[in-house]
Amino acid sequence: MASGLGSSGASVVILERGEQLPESWHARDTRSIFIDGYYRPTESWRDTRGREFNPGNYYYVGGNSKFYGAVMIRYRERDFGALEHADGISPAWPIDYRAIEPWYSAAEKLFQVRGAVGQDPTEPFHSTGYSYPPVADEPAIASARERLVKLGLRPFSLPLAIDIEKWLSHGKTPWDAYPDVRTGKLDAETAPLAVALRHPSVSLVTGAKVERLIIERDGRRIVGAEYSKNGERVLVRAKIVVLSAGAVNSAAILLRSSSEAYPEGLANRSGVVGRHFMNHNATAMLSVDPRVTNDSVYQKTIGLNDFYFDDGRGGPPLGNVQLLGRVSAPILKASLPLVPEFALRWLARHSVDWYAMSEDLPDPESRVRVDGKSIVLAWRRTNMTAHRGLIRRMKEVFHAAGYPIVLARAFDKRTPSHQCGTVRFGLDPGTSALDPFCRAHDHPNLFVVDASFMPSSAAVNPSLTVAAQALRVADHIQATGFAA
Ligand SMILES: Cc1cc2nc3c(=O)[nH]c(=O)nc-3n(C[C@H](O)[C@H](O)[C@H](O)COP(=O)(O)OP(=O)(O)OC[C@H]3O[C@@H](n4cnc5c(N)ncnc54)[C@H](O)[C@@H]3O)c2cc1C
Repeated sequence: MASGLGSSGASVVILERGEQLPESWHARDTRSIFIDGYYRPTESWRDTRGREFNPGNYYYVGGNSKFYGAVMIRYRERDFGALEHADGISPAWPIDYRAIEPWYSAAEKLFQVRGAVGQDPTEPFHSTGYSYPPVADEPAIASARERLVKLGLRPFSLPLAIDIEKWLSHGKTPWDAYPDVRTGKLDAETAPLAVALRHPSVSLVTGAKVERLIIERDGRRIVGAEYSKNGERVLVRAKIVVLSAGAVNSAAILLRSSSEAYPEGLANRSGVVGRHFMNHNATAMLSVDPRVTNDSVYQKTIGLNDFYFDDGRGGPPLGNVQLLGRVSAPILKASLPLVPEFALRWLARHSVDWYAMSEDLPDPESRVRVDGKSIVLAWRRTNMTAHRGLIRRMKEVFHAAGYPIVLARAFDKRTPSHQCGTVRFGLDPGTSALDPFCRAHDHPNLFVVDASFMPSSAAVNPSLTVAAQALRVADHIQATGFAA
C-alpha cells in the first residue's frame, strides 16, 4: 500500500508494532530458529479450550514475509470463481482474475520474482512475463524433477522472490522459515517498503502497537489510530486509515475498537469480522531413497499442480505440492524430539522434503475473537477429505517414482502461516465487511488490506495476491482523488 501511494506525495505514516530484524549469527543458525524459537513472539494466544499457545506469527518490520519461503505465485483463474470441493464449496470472489491481473504483474516486478511461464498447466494468463529466469534446481532436485516427469507429471519451477547468489553469499542455508536480515530475500521490507521509504512523504514508526481505531462520536468516519509506544498512548489522526496487521491481528483490532455505537466492533455490521478464518491444511512429506544422498542446500525450486483441480482420476480438487526448504536434523528434531539424532541425520541425508497444501474452506465458526487483551483463535479445519486424498495420491506418486519410504506429518495448529479470510470482501454489505477495493462498507475512510480480505484461501501461497490487491487498492485510492 505504501509503495503504491508513495508517488502521490500524500503523507503516509506506517505504524509497525515490531522493530527491524537485527543482523545476527542467529539468522542462519538452524538450532536458534527451529529449536530455541529465538525469533518467535513473546505473546500467547488461546485456543477454543482456553489453552495458551505461542503462535508462529512474527512481529518485525516486514511482518511474516521476513520468514516466508518467497513463493510468489498467482491464484489460478478458477480460484476466483466458485469451486466444488470434496467437503463443500469454495465461494466466488467479487472480482475475477482479469480485474487483478495487471497488479499481479506489478507485484511480480516489485518483488523481482524469478520464474517461468508455461511449465504449469494450471498457470493463468500473464500480461507480462517474469523479469528474471527461475532459480536453478540443484543437481539432486533436478533428478527428483526428472523422476516426476517420467511418471507423466508436470512439475514447474516455483516463482520465487529470492536473489539466490546474494542469499548464499551470506551463508549456505535454505531461506524458507529463515529470517531475512536483508541478505537476498525480496520480502515486504526489502522490496515494497524500501521503495516506499524513498519518498520523503512516507515515514515509518517502529515499536508502535496499534491498540484500536477511534471513530468520530456521531458518525461513520474513522478519526485515526491509537497506538502504544514505550508505555505511552498516542493518537495519529488521518484522512484515510488502512489496517494491515495480518488476518488475525486486523480482525482483533477491529473487534477491540468497539464502542457504544459499534458494540460488535468496527466494520462489523454484517457480523463477519473475525469469522471465516482460514489457514491451509498442510503436511510435510519426506520421500526417502536410501540409495541416494540429497546434497542440496536450499532445495525449494519445484511445485506440482497436477492434482490442483482434480485428483487425476476425475475426482474433486486436492491441492498444491511444493518443495520445502531443505530439511536438516535439527529441524526434524523440533517436531520429533524422541527420535535419536543419528536416525534424523540419516533421514535428512536421504530425503527430499515436500509441502502438501490443500484449500481450507470458509466456515463462520472458524474464527478469531478477543477476550480482554487476549486473542482466541478457534480454527476449525475444513476440507480434510481433500487433504487426506492429496497425501494418499502423493504417497502413490513417490513410491512409483522410486522412493521406497514416504513419511508424512501434518503442520500443527500453532502455525497460522497462511492465515486469511477474517475481514472478507464482497458485494453484499450483509455478508461481507469490505467492498471489492477493500474499503469498509460501514466506514468510508477505512480500508483493510492484508490477507484478511480473501473470501477463499485457494491452495497456493497467499503473499503475491495480498501484494497485488494492495497495489490495486492504492491505485484506486489515487484514481478517486483520495475520496473518503
Ligand atoms: C515460515 C513462513 C513461510 C511462509 N512462506 C510463504 C511463501 O513461500 N509464500 C507466500 O506467499 N506466503 C508465505 N507465508 C505467508 C506470508 O508470510 C503471509 O501470507 C504474508 O506475510 C501475509 O501478509 P499480511 O500483510 O497479511 O500480514 P503480515 O505479514 O503478518 O504483516 C502484518 C504486519 O502488521 C504488524 N502488526 C501486527 N499487529 C500490529 C499492531 N497491533 N500494530 C502495529 N503493527 C502490527 C506485524 O508486525 C506485521 O509487520 C509464509 C509464512 C511463514 C510464517
